[in-house]
Amino acid sequence: MAAIPDSTVSTNTAVAGLESTFADELGALTVPWQGAPAPDPTLLVLNEQLAASLRLDVQALRSEDGVGVLSGSTAPAGAKPVAMAYAGHQFGGYAPLLGDGRALLLGELTNSGQRVDLHLKGSGRTPFSRGGDGFAVVGPMLREYLVSEAMYALGIPTTRALSVVATGQHVYRHGAEPGAVLARVAASHLRVGTFEYAVRQGEVLQPLADYAIARHYPELTELPAGGDGSRYVAFFEAVVEAQASLVAKWMLTGFVHGVMNTDNTTVSGETIDYGPCAFLDAFDPAAVFSSIDHGGRYAFGNQPAVLKWNLARFAETLLTLIGSTPDDAIAAVSAVLDTFDERYDGHYAAGMAAKLGLAGKAIDRSVVDDLLTLLEESSMDWTGSFRALADELRGNSTPLDGLVPRERIGPWLERWRGALTKHGRGAAETADAMDCVNPLYIPRNHQLDAALRAATDGELAPFEKLLEVVTHPFDRRDEWSDYTTPAPPSFSKTFQTFCGT
Ligand code: AMP
Ligand code: MG
Repeated sequence: MAAIPDSTVSTNTAVAGLESTFADELGALTVPWQGAPAPDPTLLVLNEQLAASLRLDVQALRSEDGVGVLSGSTAPAGAKPVAMAYAGHQFGGYAPLLGDGRALLLGELTNSGQRVDLHLKGSGRTPFSRGGDGFAVVGPMLREYLVSEAMYALGIPTTRALSVVATGQHVYRHGAEPGAVLARVAASHLRVGTFEYAVRQGEVLQPLADYAIARHYPELTELPAGGDGSRYVAFFEAVVEAQASLVAKWMLTGFVHGVMNTDNTTVSGETIDYGPCAFLDAFDPAAVFSSIDHGGRYAFGNQPAVLKWNLARFAETLLTLIGSTPDDAIAAVSAVLDTFDERYDGHYAAGMAAKLGLAGKAIDRSVVDDLLTLLEESSMDWTGSFRALADELRGNSTPLDGLVPRERIGPWLERWRGALTKHGRGAAETADAMDCVNPLYIPRNHQLDAALRAATDGELAPFEKLLEVVTHPFDRRDEWSDYTTPAPPSFSKTFQTFCGT
């Protein structure tokens, strides 16, 4: 295992200005650590726009020193890299100690008052590795890079990808595969699981909660921590709201996270951990892609309910900070948790209204429910259907006719057109507004799979092309027409995704 770093001896200045408030203030939740050496590091992809927005020096990142930092083999001068401790409920069962088994928090960067974590994944074993090798491989790290950047382009809160470096070392997964390290940027890496770990350590819980509040919900810092603990009730409410909004966005985009364990649920409200995720082709609430999700716990349609379950686990961690008696505390957080369904429904309904050209208007729930039934019964492509509806308004029926028989959707179309007329929305203007919220390009499973296979074999061009397309999800270009095609049924039947690869 790599040694604990002595960052005072590092002279690597490729990444300057890293701070370490988390490690300094919450040392009990961290272990100082250093990444493994990378025998022959190669920078596969660098997010220059993100780097520039963080005021990182792109030239320096591309240099030998920069690649050393991004591979984890060298600590930036003055940095205090740590592995973070956390616990988590995985598929409903409690694991008291997970932690960064193959990741490191390098430190924090601030930009315009916004503090973000710079974090590595696949950088070697740590004291939390639990028998794992601590490494990651090219395919899954490029997968996280591309999907998280696609999510960002879609306007969905998410961790972002800064780079992927191939280490030059083979790692054994489905046979020998090229090793890789992802550098990602996040509002923080505070998870529900971080609180589950802290609550069992006692004293660190309140400092952790205050740290999270100061970082993500600073407007709550003035609320009283003593007495009824209203600061922590408000904190819980803020996380419930952020996560209800997030999962509604997933549901509106056809995103299946795949492993919604509590260690993968952030307190910032960002999507994190892109291991077994996938996007729907045909709309199906029962869709499951993860190879290990046999019971369908994390099926597409279960995501709001599972999130609420995770938030209940989060609430439990805060009880000792709230109320004068346990009963008071339980009553206070339960009242907040009870608002989850309404919050979620509100975000979902508003999003659906916008997808159907009725942004800002109340939409009859039965119009949405009946559309969902049609989509499911006719196995219609989720992403393509909303673009086809806009085309229908423009007088082009061909896309919709390719998805569903006219006699089946005709009565619904009448009702929808009636709702648009009632709200005085003209067809052309509505269609254009719909195209601004309904993406044309998402990472299609079969295309991403093919691009990652090629990248694993050393051919990066298909990945680069797909990345360009999915980071412009609303910009129609004729030469990108292939990227709107759903996966062929033969692919979808056998397609699976994997955790921890
Ligand atoms: P994930 O499925 O990526 O959310 O990971 C769940 C837990 O397993 C985390 O504690 C990871 O650090 C750990 N883990 C995943 N893959 C590895 C690996 N190859 N070596 C060590 N730990 C790992
Ligand atoms: Mg995880």
